[in-house]
Amino acid sequence: MGSGQVTDWQGKNVTVAGLGVSGIPAAKVLHARGANVTVVNDGDDARAREQAAELEALGITVRLGDGATLPEGTELIVTAPGWKPDKPLFAAAHEAGVPVWGDVELAWRLRGPDAAPWLAVTGTNGKTTTVQMLASILKAAGLRTAAVGNIGVSLLDVVLGEEQYDVLAVELSSYQLHWAPSLRAHSAAVLNIAPDHLDWHGSMEAYAADKGRIYEGNRVACVYNVADKATEDLVREADVEEGCRAIGFTLGTPAPSQLGVVDGILVDRAFVENRQQNAQELAEVSDVDPPAPHNIANALAAAALARAYGVPAKAVRDGLRAFTPDAHRIAHVADVDGVAYVDDSKATNTHAAQASLAAYESIVWIAGGLAKGAVFEELVAGSAKRLRAAVLMGADRGLIREALARHAPEVPVVDLDRTDTGAMLAAVQEARRLAVAGDTVLLAPACASMDMFANYNQRGDAFAEAVRELGAGA
Ligand code: ADP
Repeated sequence: MGSGQVTDWQGKNVTVAGLGVSGIPAAKVLHARGANVTVVNDGDDARAREQAAELEALGITVRLGDGATLPEGTELIVTAPGWKPDKPLFAAAHEAGVPVWGDVELAWRLRGPDAAPWLAVTGTNGKTTTVQMLASILKAAGLRTAAVGNIGVSLLDVVLGEEQYDVLAVELSSYQLHWAPSLRAHSAAVLNIAPDHLDWHGSMEAYAADKGRIYEGNRVACVYNVADKATEDLVREADVEEGCRAIGFTLGTPAPSQLGVVDGILVDRAFVENRQQNAQELAEVSDVDPPAPHNIANALAAAALARAYGVPAKAVRDGLRAFTPDAHRIAHVADVDGVAYVDDSKATNTHAAQASLAAYESIVWIAGGLAKGAVFEELVAGSAKRLRAAVLMGADRGLIREALARHAPEVPVVDLDRTDTGAMLAAVQEARRLAVAGDTVLLAPACASMDMFANYNQRGDAFAEAVRELGAGA
């Protein structure tokens, strides 16, 4: 199948692995272009049967209950990004020399000849925020753009849709990158790399290597985090186009070819004339919402990609000012009796929680949930001096309690010993009792939510609801 755009699908035998948000549209598109499509799916429940019936009515073959066997004659597999690389289906494909593409690879190959270039972002945390900031900056520059990809907007829909774009702000997960061998971005950023999803990738090295694929073939800039050496190493290992530059972002004073912060100003020492002597002011720290350190880093990464695309400094400032963060990401809910209540329910892993704990001076921390194999030693040790108290709930709260006992024995801890949804109200009431005026009550669970809630949105809503009840009773 080479590595270029594929235009002739007539009679090609394509196996689509996984019914689902990416599999169903992929199957339909390839079938419409004349491919012989077979969908294979592990599950065989009522919903799968319903979806299968819909595809079969179009003339697509569906095999339910067997996602392991490679259908006879397969020339290409298009897989759902979440399918683990160690599945027998992929071993069989490898054996037979059959290429495997994910949803992003398929979109990349199906894009038209005049398709918009991609400015791509990955990282363990901050992806969504950064692509949204980037899209906001590009819009402020008058460009036709959208934040797409892992953010919940299918790249396949975007590349095949009617709407014309000048440039796309693309969020990519490590899974998607794993299955996107020929993707070549205009410019790309890796925000940070901390252990996550290791059961899927097999090891930290494999996880980092998959993230590093985002830099392959970049044309203009590979943007890395000066404070996270692993990201810079990935730039060094990448095979890029002649003339492509390595651009760092830092919360400190930028060196030449970096963006950074000087006296509360975001400055560019990369995309300026004579960068040894000159720097360009882009925006003020107070233009970034919220102005927490990790979020300034996100803004700098977004600015670096926009500047790589040639956007003027003023658009960076206007775009950052126009940006408002998505719900449950360090959202200020209310002040009650001089105490701020902040919802960072999206802090579902320790790396994210560390960033939000670093943003406040004196914190009553509400944490706990499903740990997904995480350890809390570093997080607690690094944040101990900022903690007024901790209130714990959820299935794996014991792990956090033990880390607190070891690294912050003087911090009062309330263990709610509950995993029911109603525990959030009790947690907020306890937090209120422990907080003093000037403190922040911070929901940054460092855990997934599914033991107590449907998802992190519902967890954050429960927190906000509980805070409102406090306010009403105050
Ligand atoms: P992602 O799309 O990578 O999950 P989000 O932008 O949705 O990232 O942010 C998720 C959470 O990660 C935020 O609620 C915040 O706690 C944390 N976070 C955001 N940016 C960073 C960063 N640069 N470094 C560390 N943590 C971050």
